[in-house]
Amino acid sequence: MRKKENTAYSTLTQNFNLLIDEPLKKYTSIKIGGPADLLALPKNKQELKGLLKKASDLNILITLFGGGTNLLVTDKGIRGLVVITKHLKSKINIIKTEPDKKIIFTDAGERLSKVCQFAINHSFSGLEFAAGIPGTIGGAIMMNAGTKSGDMSDIVQSIDVLDQKTLTFKTIEKKDLDFSYRRLKLTDIIVGATLALKEKPIEKIEDAFKLNLSKKNATQPVSFASAGCFFKNPAQGKSAGELIEKSGLKGARVNDAMVSQKHANFIVNMNNATCEDVLLLKQHIEKTVLKKYQIKLQTEVRVEGE
Ligand SMILES: Cc1cc2nc3c(=O)[nH]c(=O)nc-3n(C[C@H](O)[C@H](O)[C@H](O)COP(=O)(O)OP(=O)(O)OC[C@H]3O[C@@H](n4cnc5c(N)ncnc54)[C@H](O)[C@@H]3O)c2cc1C
Repeated sequence: MRKKENTAYSTLTQNFNLLIDEPLKKYTSIKIGGPADLLALPKNKQELKGLLKKASDLNILITLFGGGTNLLVTDKGIRGLVVITKHLKSKINIIKTEPDKKIIFTDAGERLSKVCQFAINHSFSGLEFAAGIPGTIGGAIMMNAGTKSGDMSDIVQSIDVLDQKTLTFKTIEKKDLDFSYRRLKLTDIIVGATLALKEKPIEKIEDAFKLNLSKKNATQPVSFASAGCFFKNPAQGKSAGELIEKSGLKGARVNDAMVSQKHANFIVNMNNATCEDVLLLKQHIEKTVLKKYQIKLQTEVRVEGE
């Protein structure tokens, strides 16, 4: 254990099944990240609640991960407890069907791709925009993941959360959720969600999924380790990718961190990139784009750690 003298850590490890000094590169799609002091993969809501209660009594900091597909973890890693929510899953259920609305419930740890497949199988439309977006439902809602053709805020009807302060479960309706571009303002832990979809002929849904997926595969470096689009698109004008490409930065490199040749808004890990390499490249991109276009790019990827 990183801090053997830390009795709070020892108490927590005695009570729960935790990994100690676990390398976080194993849990991020960009395959970068130093160790977590402690790491938990709770399998259900009650285990999550018990863990959070004990960690909060012991004043241990918590960091949440879903699928780790939008995260960049520092080389020193994360102090305290990392809670990975991707095992919080059971069954996707249809909970209400009305002529114009099909409501499904899914746990937060469910893969977005699995929920998309469920929608296709039942002829439910609404998730076509999400074709090819990796990660979990919890992470997708937190990031308000999406594309030009839609995002999670279009279909979320309500979310079930564990309130981090009171450690109680509650449901929050859409009207009380503060969604914006690639963001949901929320301090709670998402444990489940209801999504409102619509019935449509299956062929139309399948065609839309196929089209979106083929566009993604044709334009994004999906087979390389990355955390998706690195920067948010500015509110108007050129996209972040266009700004970076037109600044001549495709292929720019700091050691094994490289601006993708296929899509300039992706920083890919060519083999052994560190977080420091990625952050140096990020700074170089920001400076170059600022100088050429007087636009300050905002990071979409979330950086976590010491
Ligand atoms: C190849 C590739 C393509 C991508 N394409 C797209 C795209 O087209 N559109 C797009 O929007 N994104 C895209 N992304 C980014 C990423 O896949 C999405 O943001 C995804 O929704 C993140 O989900 P996740 O479970 O991996 O979240 P993580 O990366 O694990 O976490 C993201 C944030 O959500 C928080 N979080 C995770 N789970 C919970 C929870 N249960 N409760 C509360 N907070 C939680 C985390 O603390 C973190 O702040 C892409 C990524 C890759 C690697």
